[in-house]
Amino acid sequence: MPGPALSSEQYVDQLGMVCPICEDTRFVYPTSSYKITGRMEDRFVVDMEGSDLLLLPMQCSECETTWLDNFVLHSYSNLKVKGVEVADA
Ligand SMILES: [Zn+2]
Repeated sequence: MPGPALSSEQYVDQLGMVCPICEDTRFVYPTSSYKITGRMEDRFVVDMEGSDLLLLPMQCSECETTWLDNFVLHSYSNLKVKGVEVADA
């Protein structure tokens, strides 16, 4: 099988939500198990070279490809308590 159409770098440049194999953007979603339940157990957090990486299972239903989106926790934002914004620390 030939290599992917998009490298990891090209995938990140497009901000994801594109199939690395067929480059389709219409049928790319988190896997159905994640969509249905939305539970944290359906994500996988690993420690990779000292940084916590969140791995979100993805799928392209156009060409039946699956992969993991790898997220690094960056920060939090839009913090609210009972709907009231909390100022930054
Ligand atoms: Zn595809």
